[in-house]
Amino acid sequence: MAEQKYRIGTGYDIHCLVEGRELIIGGIKIEHEKGLLGHSDADVLIHAIIDAMLGALALDDIGTLFPDTDDRFKDANSVILLKKVYDLIQKEGYWVNNIDSNIIAEAPKMMPYIPQMKELLASVLGLESTDISIKAKTKEKLDAVGEYRAIEANAIVMLEKISE
Ligand SMILES: [Zn+2]
Repeated sequence: MAEQKYRIGTGYDIHCLVEGRELIIGGIKIEHEKGLLGHSDADVLIHAIIDAMLGALALDDIGTLFPDTDDRFKDANSVILLKKVYDLIQKEGYWVNNIDSNIIAEAPKMMPYIPQMKELLASVLGLESTDISIKAKTKEKLDAVGEYRAIEANAIVMLEKISE
């Protein structure tokens, strides 16, 4: 692995929408009457990106690294988990080249928040916001996401070997 210039990974996540939780996606608080249920802050987009970064290096996945049985990760800020994973990636000799991702939600509208998400993720990962793509989709009223019961995200990440 050490000699490979590029490594690619994919990540996917889904969380249920419930009352009494804040909605945090891409590290940004979004105005909504419901939030995502999870052991951490349930940031579905960051979780998909983390799994894509780990997958690119065939490392343990997010559920193994940050188990939901571990109280240290209860209501954890996923931005901090992302920083930890980025440190791990750099220790392996890689940085992030670019990210492409989708948030799949029937509501609320993600578009107004996407520029802030890109800026935040770029600052954590030492990237320009033009290196990060976040697209907002709906599920056309189909399945749990289409019935406003869940929000999904997926991501693909390209890692590049840090040149010495
Ligand atoms: Zn998650």
